[in-house]
Amino acid sequence: MVETHARESHAMVRDHEVPLGIYVGGSWETTEREFTVVNPSTGDVIASVSDGGPADGIRALDAAVAAQDEWRKMAPRARANLFHSAHRLLVSRADAFADIMTLESGKPRAESVGEFALSMSFFQWYAEQIAHIHGTYSTSSSGGFRVMTTKQPVGPALLITPWNFPMLMNARKGGAALAAGCTVVLKSASETPLTAALFVSTLEEAGFPPGVVNLIHTSDSASISAPLLADQRLRKVSFTGSTAVGSILLQQSARNIVNASMELGGDGPFIVLADADVDLAVREAVNCKFRNAGQACVAANRIILHRDIAEEFTEKFVAASRALPVGDGFDGTSVVGPLINARQRERTERLVEDFQNAAGATLLLGGKPIEGDGFFFEPTVLSFPDKKHEFCNDEIFAPIAALYTVDSVTEALQFANDTHYGLAAYLFTTDISRAITLAERLEFGMVGVNRGIMAEPSAPFGGVKSSGLGREGGHDGLDDFLEPKYIALTVDESSIE
Ligand code: NAD
Repeated sequence: MVETHARESHAMVRDHEVPLGIYVGGSWETTEREFTVVNPSTGDVIASVSDGGPADGIRALDAAVAAQDEWRKMAPRARANLFHSAHRLLVSRADAFADIMTLESGKPRAESVGEFALSMSFFQWYAEQIAHIHGTYSTSSSGGFRVMTTKQPVGPALLITPWNFPMLMNARKGGAALAAGCTVVLKSASETPLTAALFVSTLEEAGFPPGVVNLIHTSDSASISAPLLADQRLRKVSFTGSTAVGSILLQQSARNIVNASMELGGDGPFIVLADADVDLAVREAVNCKFRNAGQACVAANRIILHRDIAEEFTEKFVAASRALPVGDGFDGTSVVGPLINARQRERTERLVEDFQNAAGATLLLGGKPIEGDGFFFEPTVLSFPDKKHEFCNDEIFAPIAALYTVDSVTEALQFANDTHYGLAAYLFTTDISRAITLAERLEFGMVGVNRGIMAEPSAPFGGVKSSGLGREGGHDGLDDFLEPKYIALTVDESSIE
């Protein structure tokens, strides 16, 4: 029995109407408990949203299971047309999305606009693939039967997303899952539920049938995901977040052998060789490090400089970082926003102290929280005397640039690979042979050559080692939500004689 409560089901947030409830089986519902959403630029409460519990998660799965068969059977052209309509409706709300994303994540509005456009390019790319999911037909090696293969949706999927790219993660995962024909239970981050609510309500308005997309907000994620992963009807989990949580979810998935995709943490090495275009490397490093206030899985975590260019790079990088305006994402000039909450800001402060005290790093810029409202921190640059310290391979996930110096290409490669992570690496050189050879030897899922941003809908995004399993984007991203089915068909060729 569904309880409804007398609370507001929608609110006007910065002139945009946003649902506050959870969305199960085609209805927005409010729950007894709520939790607040805070603007990290001011510390002010923006809204209170429904706080779903384990029973809500299971009801969302009930709805996803009930809708699965019809969704799988929908003609590819009909499903693609629905996606295209949803894409047009989403794009028509670009301003609302950008405002809400900036409000709840703190990122500068221009960054929200960019993230929304990228999200839409993923959504559109998946829409274009729906009518192109093909099978194969061939003769068995020994003759006598035919080998037919097709691809079928894995089944109801749990999608768990983080707050740092509140729209991109939902559109990228949701786009792939829904295009593949899976129904979904989306559990967005508790810091950024409003962007997810706007996304899901727009899909609803575009005509996505009840039960195909379900949305649960919660202040206690484990209380939702654990019972869902223990339920045999759930066939897929796709998670983006920290390696620690990914590991817990993988263990929980093991029980029912749930198909799992994991986009986890990173320790991105950013290598600048002696023959690099230093000005280009500085520009890209500033963007790669300080975008989203450093809170990106693909951020430059260790900036590795060949000694020949280290001084020039450092001087220019510090100057460019010093010039970055920090502030509220709506002020029109800020390039660096706040950290997501007070806890992350305190962690950042401690990291700067540890880097100096325990690892002997020299502070070249910043290093302090910014007084006043919100959770701002100065863009910070530290130079490390050596490459072996206890924090070396921690994911910084903050506006702290860590600079290291090496004496050879081999040393750069060894240091870059000396990590349990393997998400994104970056490489700056003007020598094409070096670029290709190093790109092949770097133990990372993605390598940017002479560029610090790689996101692209047609490309497989993802990591190796502790950075994850599976890929998002490209055909591999769609395949993550599809299972190959093999049908063997006996054929007696003499039947026509
Ligand atoms: P997080 O792991 O704390 O949270 C991610 C999501 O998991 C959120 O929705 C959260 O509510 C949920 N969650 C937290 N604990 C859980 C539990 N015990 N059981 C089930 N769900 C749980 O990570 P975060 O702080 O939100 O995001 C930062 C991390 O995400 C970083 O490590 C970053 O590198 C990673 N990330 C990776 C990618 C990628 O594509 N590889 C992209 C963005 C972020």
